[in-house]
Amino acid sequence: MGQLSCPSCKGIATGGRGCLVWFFVIILFPIGLVLLLLKPTYRCKSCGYTFKA
Ligand SMILES: [Zn+2]
Repeated sequence: MGQLSCPSCKGIATGGRGCLVWFFVIILFPIGLVLLLLKPTYRCKSCGYTFKA
């Protein structure tokens, strides 16, 4: 989880990798490590804008 500023409205966007992703990374280790190559998605609380960081 993390916070970034929204590129659209400069509001607070939260997101990142959820617990579920880490769960699969661990149980599918080492194959699950490829999941870490996926970009975490962030969503702005103010305007709803979603983006990958
Ligand atoms: Zn925004």
